[in-house]
Amino acid sequence: VLHAKGMATMGPAVTAALEGVVKRDPDQPEFHQAVREVLETISPVFDRHPAMAELLPLITEPERVIQFRVPWRDRNGNLQVNRGYRVQMNSALGPYKGGLRFHPSVNLSILKFLAFEQVFKNSLTTLPMGGGKGGANFDPKGKSDLEVMAFCQSFMTELSRHIGQFTDVPAGDIGVGGREIGFMFGQYKKVRNEFVGVLTGKGIEYGGSLIRPEATGYGLVYFVQEMLATKSSSLKGKTVLVSGSGNVAQYATEKVTQLGGKVVTLSDSSGFIYDKDGIDAEKLAFVMDLKNVKRGRIEEYAKKYRSATFEAKDASKAHNPLWAVKADVALPCATQNEVMEEDAKNLVAGGVQVVGEGANMPCSIQATNTLLANKVLFAPGKASNAGGVACSGLEMSQNSLRLSWTREDVDSRLHNIMKEIHHAAYSTAEEYGAPGNYVVGSNIAGFLKVARAMNQQGA
Ligand code: GLU
Repeated sequence: VLHAKGMATMGPAVTAALEGVVKRDPDQPEFHQAVREVLETISPVFDRHPAMAELLPLITEPERVIQFRVPWRDRNGNLQVNRGYRVQMNSALGPYKGGLRFHPSVNLSILKFLAFEQVFKNSLTTLPMGGGKGGANFDPKGKSDLEVMAFCQSFMTELSRHIGQFTDVPAGDIGVGGREIGFMFGQYKKVRNEFVGVLTGKGIEYGGSLIRPEATGYGLVYFVQEMLATKSSSLKGKTVLVSGSGNVAQYATEKVTQLGGKVVTLSDSSGFIYDKDGIDAEKLAFVMDLKNVKRGRIEEYAKKYRSATFEAKDASKAHNPLWAVKADVALPCATQNEVMEEDAKNLVAGGVQVVGEGANMPCSIQATNTLLANKVLFAPGKASNAGGVACSGLEMSQNSLRLSWTREDVDSRLHNIMKEIHHAAYSTAEEYGAPGNYVVGSNIAGFLKVARAMNQQGA
């Protein structure tokens, strides 16, 4: 399987690169995990292109890491300090591009893993974007609008020195949505006196793109549709597990429902809801208002709808009961490492046919291997959640052209991009002797474009 097979064929260059990464930064487990997963699956590339192996130490080291202090005043006038970062990972294909995450767990390990994934994801989108990621260990939960604004302004005061429309174009991620992007855009404009497309995920009134809020979730479902089509199947009548309840989960749920599937779960950091009747359009509208406007907890869903139950999170359990619900398709859309080996076993026992990652690295390496070993169709996030950043790329195009495309236009471009990503992953996997293995296919296809560009630019 992925790990075992990768290890068996791993050349000395790959082993050395991996060891180098761990040795340089021993305290970055998430980064090691992401690097390991990619390097172990791309080793067959170096049998065909031995010269490319010398790039390994380069692609595993960020071009630049910026770390800064973010001081701001809370509602009581007390001075607070957070830590802000921007990891500029690789600019071989274009300006650094990738989201900003505001979450108490944010640290360099998590941002480097995300930036590393972003490089290959952006490569797969077919658009000219390098990879980066940033954020802060700020917790937006329970903060007032004014506190969030104060934080965003202070964060951008420093970040504005390091980004630009031709340099580095951030967007949202966990904890950063339309509200935060608006506050940060306003501050960038004030500090730099420039109205440019330096951020994506902007409001539609000031240069945002239609379909950007929907893009990650829709793109995920378009990708899953393509996977099912290879087995002459579709989402119609399928029972679907979705985790998370933010932007990705919401629009994945919407698209699955539109295509005739039934989503039965959603979650947040306190637990998950299971609705045996399915989360239809009306119930989803309730979730969107609850989460995006009221910023409430998913537990409220089970108080409102009798067909649903809520189960609180129990950190002492080795598995998450959400993944033990019987279903045909599972779409983890919450966060990294939310599907562990036990969860993968439960999914297999429940008869799951497809797992599509909506979040970044929601499945551990062991979970991924369990799914692959059991012939589950598995879509890694860097392929299946690339619709978000792809639409960000389309937002950049529209900003450069100084115009905006219609919903239909952006949606059809997004749909085509997801089909192309699927095709690239599928055919590359076949070409490298791992048919049906989207992990191998995505990693190799994503890597080859970056490696060729680095070589041509005189790496
Ligand atoms: N944070 C999202 C991702 O992981 C979007 C990044 C972007 O639009 O730049 O791909």
